[in-house]
Amino acid sequence: MAQNIEGKIVVITGASSGLGKAAARALSADGASVVLGARRLALIQSLADELTAKGGKALAIETDVTQRDQVSKLVNTAVQTFGRVDVMINNAGLMPNSPLERLKVDEWEQMIDVNLKGVLYGIAAVLPVMKEQKSGHIINVSSVAGHKIRQGAAVYAATKHAVRALSEGLRQEVKAYNIRTTIISPGAVDTELPNSISEPDIAEAVRRIYEHAIPADAFARAVSFAVSQPDDVDINEILFRPTRQE
Ligand code: NDP
Repeated sequence: MAQNIEGKIVVITGASSGLGKAAARALSADGASVVLGARRLALIQSLADELTAKGGKALAIETDVTQRDQVSKLVNTAVQTFGRVDVMINNAGLMPNSPLERLKVDEWEQMIDVNLKGVLYGIAAVLPVMKEQKSGHIINVSSVAGHKIRQGAAVYAATKHAVRALSEGLRQEVKAYNIRTTIISPGAVDTELPNSISEPDIAEAVRRIYEHAIPADAFARAVSFAVSQPDDVDINEILFRPTRQE
């Protein structure tokens, strides 16, 4: 069992699927209480029931991260129920990639609203709580696309670069409050993420990259590694990808 996870209160956005779900399972197995946010309430409720049946503590709160009041409610409910928040994982995201010239402006806005503003709302909700506690850990999910720009993925890459930029800015500000920040940048992991691509040719190109996708446990292990460090060790960033990915 990993150190320094048991008893922690962890809020996870995008917990209904993929990476968020895998992290919730792993942290709960190591004794954390998890507060699960996503729009699909039935999925997070059934995950909460699964974790509770195994002896864990879990709560499901319907949350759309594009709505600031809903993200505040997610964090406030965690505080009301468990007394504090030790870890906030801003994970919700989507990737409807397309070349800019196709002008899928609605999809650009969706990515900015969820991948970027959703992360900012998570930070806004949890920061006052963690400052008051003088402790905490904010984990923001970026991507290999936060380091590398592929053709057809400009807006997604822009949001993921932005997540890395704001996370580093956040780190510099909050270290004084004993708050840790971690950026996790995964490569291709086998989740529902490519399902949001509406352009058939782009979906096919992404499918080829995802032929080597690895299971979501890889992300869960990265989260556990960061959270389990002693409090005076901040893992600033983890970048991982399938061994065979470019
Ligand atoms: P999934 O599509 O499996 O999961 C995405 C999650 O985000 C779902 O739980 C979904 O929940 C949630 N979500 C989407 N929109 C909203 C919203 N408006 N409000 C709240 N939750 C929302 O993909 P992944 O698990 O792969 O993605 C998780 C994160 O990992 C994303 O930020 C993604 O960009 C990043 N990532 C993933 C990689 C991969 O290869 N899988 C690689 C690099 C980064 P619901 O629909 O129920 O609201």
